[in-house]
Amino acid sequence: MSDSQLLSPLDYLKGVGPQRAKLLQSEVGLNSYKDLIEYYPFRYIDRTQFYKIKDLHQSSAEVQIIGVITEIRLVNHKRRKRLVATFEDNSGEMELIWFQGYKWIREQIKMEKPYVIFGKLNFFNGQISMIHPELDLLEDYKKDFAVKLQPVYSSTEKLTKQNLGSRFFNKALKTLFSELKSPLLEIIPNQVIEDLKLLSRSKAVFNIHFPQSNDLLSKAQFRLKWEEFFFIQLQLVRKNMFQKHKIKSYKFETIGDYFNRFYKSILPFELTNAQKKVLKQIRLDLGRQSQMNRLLQGDVGSGKTIVGFMSMLIAIDNGFQACMMAPTEILAKQHYQTIAEFCDQLGIRISLLTGSSSRAQRREIHEHLENGTLHILVGTHALIEDKVKFFNLGLAIIDEQHRFGVAQRAKLWKKNDYPPNILVMTATPIPRTLAMSLYGDLDISVIDELPPGRKLVKTVHRYDANRLKVFHFLKQEIAKGRQVYVVYPLIEESANFDYKDLMDGYESISREFPQPKFQISIVYGKMKPDDKAFEMDRFVKGETQIMVATTVIEVGVNVPNASVMIIESAEKFGLSQLHQLRGRVGRGAEQSYCILMTSHKLSDNAKTRLQTMTNTNDGFKIAEVDLKLRGPGDLMGTQQSGILNLKIADVVKDSSILQSARYYAIQILKQDPNLEKPEHQALKQRFVELSKDKFKWNYIS
Ligand code: ADP
Ligand code: MG
Repeated sequence: MSDSQLLSPLDYLKGVGPQRAKLLQSEVGLNSYKDLIEYYPFRYIDRTQFYKIKDLHQSSAEVQIIGVITEIRLVNHKRRKRLVATFEDNSGEMELIWFQGYKWIREQIKMEKPYVIFGKLNFFNGQISMIHPELDLLEDYKKDFAVKLQPVYSSTEKLTKQNLGSRFFNKALKTLFSELKSPLLEIIPNQVIEDLKLLSRSKAVFNIHFPQSNDLLSKAQFRLKWEEFFFIQLQLVRKNMFQKHKIKSYKFETIGDYFNRFYKSILPFELTNAQKKVLKQIRLDLGRQSQMNRLLQGDVGSGKTIVGFMSMLIAIDNGFQACMMAPTEILAKQHYQTIAEFCDQLGIRISLLTGSSSRAQRREIHEHLENGTLHILVGTHALIEDKVKFFNLGLAIIDEQHRFGVAQRAKLWKKNDYPPNILVMTATPIPRTLAMSLYGDLDISVIDELPPGRKLVKTVHRYDANRLKVFHFLKQEIAKGRQVYVVYPLIEESANFDYKDLMDGYESISREFPQPKFQISIVYGKMKPDDKAFEMDRFVKGETQIMVATTVIEVGVNVPNASVMIIESAEKFGLSQLHQLRGRVGRGAEQSYCILMTSHKLSDNAKTRLQTMTNTNDGFKIAEVDLKLRGPGDLMGTQQSGILNLKIADVVKDSSILQSARYYAIQILKQDPNLEKPEHQALKQRFVELSKDKFKWNYIS
């Protein structure tokens, strides 16, 4: 090609013209031939099968039938006109119905000539009908659909009204391909094409619109998905390489006394292999001059905290300070308690800074932080207040990053001459592949193994009607000395309503579990932080057996003796939230349980969520289902939606393709960072084009 031909505006295409071009531009953003070529079908209809009218049944989704139109009449019903045709084959008859455009249809239809109709069926009072069927004369059908996989293009209501529906795109593309003077230029390096046996660009693009066979269609899909991921990865990987050169941080050359003493004589358990692997990756990062920017993923309970702490020890061994930031006060406090015990034994100075630290405490912390006598600071958002100045912050650990905005992360960077090395820890099980395309600037470590001896939490779904049985079970567990969480949903928009649910629940539990035999804690969002901490503490210390709470306890709380998690109105929770909540139990040696309570009224989506929870404990599997139910745009909240501006690939379903594309992007950039080699020129051109094109590569940093 003549890729230059692809730059022609769509008006030039036969059958389009200025007016339609304008509509296509405003409705679906198509400007040029190239845009149209990249307007891929979203599905295909297999038109190899024909039905007989007598064989049609309710579940036949979309069908095609050969027959003739024997009668046609205009019906006036409740002031609404419709055109009804009787359609017959040799097995029976049915109706074809049009509510619009019937004048035109009536004129077009040829009676008693064989037609192929295609569409969805309606069944009403024993009468079968098809509304607005696709209609082709059998003779035309034979010509047009030599290929029996019919592409379906998305369209808009406005376009459809102007007869610019799926059929139009199909036709326009047919014209376009017939006008093309030469095959499309190949942009993927030959070596890769050979390695992966990719279809050529020309062949792929043609077969995506006009699949010549199922096999060629799947090859075309593979090639185009691969290509799409590949260019994204080229961008991300290149940016990453570039940054690594530029952003310097502190380099920790030695593994010293603190680390070694802790590892040899204080660490109360053997690290899992996954923890060891991740720690090694972190050590390597920290040993380099370039800034560490690593995301540490690990399912709830996988033991991220200890990995974070040991990373801090490396910083301290090299004479630097470290901090750990948590999203809530309760969490910060828990981290502090866990870590402080170790620090005591090691002779490391550590402080806790939260919103409720007193003025005197703050003053002391600020001072010791600035003169470098304080080694570790654990805290909440309070850590990034302007007054907090480190002497030499070498490592910042951010726990449960999804609670922190990007701006806050950047703020931490500004504390030193150099930005600190950064470790972000999260239990939010973002599938690895998605994390890669979302956080292309972060390296990723995964703890994919739980500490030994953990029993999987048994999860069941119970209806509200069985509440008494559930209470009975709770009593048994409490009698064994265990503790129980009862969690109610909290939805911002209906906070008052939820609060009432929580209070009603609290009352009924209080009645069922009376004092003094039973002690109950209650924690909810609107409580004062002091009261919250007090109630939480009582539960942590084992003074109360039941914790009634809204989702404020969702992340990170660690009470190993708690063995039952009851989630009320479980259908109101998203999958990742349910998984997080379930992660609050199963932290001790005992068998733990998660009970999902719901009414009988459940949407299909809710049923899928509940089933997923009862079927698996694997956070990554859950995340994938979650993603399918919600779509990638939802995963990180609206703020980041649109980040995956993908035309054909699916981050979840096509994760292996993404990995392959990433691998090759890295290989190519390693040997040719600026794409200067002759064999990379076409690639470079496309790369530059995409970078300044309408594509917006949204980065997090
Ligand atoms: P999370 O990854 O959810 O933050 P934590 O770091 O809170 O997990 O660890 C959960 C519990 O598992 C803690 O009580 C911790 O002491 C314990 N733990 C961590 N690593 C190990 C290990 N290798 N062997 C045994 N217990 C461990
Ligand atoms: Mg944690």
